[in-house]
Amino acid sequence: MSRGALSARLRELIEREEVGLLAVMLVRLQRLQEFRLVHGYAASDAVGQAALERIAGLLRPVDELMQVAENEFIALLPNLRDPHHATLAGSRVVRAFEEPLVVAGHSVLAPVAVGISLTPGHGDDADALLRRAELALRDAKKSSLRCAVFAPGTERLAVPYEWLHEALRTNQLEAHFEPILDLRTGRIAGYESLARWDEPGIGPVRPDVFIRLAEDTGLIAELTRWSLNATLRHAAQADPAHGMEFSINISPRVFGQRDIVSQVTGALSVWNVSPDVVTLEVTESALMEDPATSLALLHRLREVGLGIAIDDFGAGYSSLAYLKQFPATQLKIDRSFIYDMRQDTRSARVVRAIIDLGHQLDLNVVAEGVEDMETLDLLRALGCDRAQGYHVGRSQPAEQVVEPLRLPD
Ligand code: C2E
Ligand code: CA
Ligand code: CA
Repeated sequence: MSRGALSARLRELIEREEVGLLAVMLVRLQRLQEFRLVHGYAASDAVGQAALERIAGLLRPVDELMQVAENEFIALLPNLRDPHHATLAGSRVVRAFEEPLVVAGHSVLAPVAVGISLTPGHGDDADALLRRAELALRDAKKSSLRCAVFAPGTERLAVPYEWLHEALRTNQLEAHFEPILDLRTGRIAGYESLARWDEPGIGPVRPDVFIRLAEDTGLIAELTRWSLNATLRHAAQADPAHGMEFSINISPRVFGQRDIVSQVTGALSVWNVSPDVVTLEVTESALMEDPATSLALLHRLREVGLGIAIDDFGAGYSSLAYLKQFPATQLKIDRSFIYDMRQDTRSARVVRAIIDLGHQLDLNVVAEGVEDMETLDLLRALGCDRAQGYHVGRSQPAEQVVEPLRLPD
């Protein structure tokens, strides 16, 4: 079913009084692209069909279910007694997909995430409800429950679009550099560039707030351009003799875009920085969204000589089969594992396993979010290559960081 037809059907239901409380439930299969790459289109279509049937089996006769994309389904649940029943339905779907689907003799584990919006409650405009189910789905992906109801407020933007637009236009954002320690030599190996925005009148705006705002409004392309240039402009000030490396975060939203390679190489040549000292950080989930495209893109970036870090590793679902193919240079262990490795021996064992895995794949392994000496010592003992976090050092304005590294005049 097309998006247009879906909106039309939803509008129809909203207008009918007897429909009562209506939930829009968006279900997304997480691993279909990966499966398709291995088994082909026909097999992945069959998985979509099996998923559709599995969801249908969980719904009431009055509910309506449609497939809106290869890996996406929408269920419309009318006449709910209370909002809680929508959550129960969503959780049932999540649990049902903990069991593998069996398709043409293959057993496929395709976990799902579920986002829900409700009317009345979250508006009576069909497109807004669909968008809000999508926003809820994003929260669901981050939550261990894998199911979330739209939370009003997550959408209300903390800062208006125009302000960020203006801040970017007038170069109000600032690059800060967070030090990364080489655990073998005990010396600083380089810096991760983090964007900071201190808006006069409202104070500092958190990066996760404005980066999400940029992603939602299309400003992310501009923010990426800014971030590449601001980082490299400062990196260019450092004397190469110090051997410092610089890491730049790339949003999943721009990672897949074709001109990202030329944008990066363009900025490198403008600032005359060697690609060998620059690493692009891409989250694991961005790579897994579309592994085939990611793979091709990573190869091109590697050919140019850039380093590639898989950021927030362990926080999402990865396939080890892909990890093996991705031509990355670095693996950054998500800070949720580092945070409790001291108290929790299981976490420590997971960290050890990730370090070993990274080394098996010839990756430089970086731990992020190291907040105390004990954790740092533990990581060193486990053979981790690098570490960053408050214990190593907080981020500082890039200008201050490069000052002592400057090329002699
Ligand atoms: P990230 O790439 O995982 O960056 C690390 C985040 O952890 C930073 O938060 C950093 O300040 C914080 N951090 C560092 N050490 C510690 C520690 O010991 N404990 C704890 N609890 N946190 C620590 P920040 O700067 O708020 O950035 C949040 C996210 O925003 C980043 O996550 C990154 O995904 C994104 N981001 C930041 N700057 C940029 C940028 O220029 N471009 C893009 N695309 N994304 C950016
Ligand atoms: Ca990062
Ligand atoms: Ca990270």
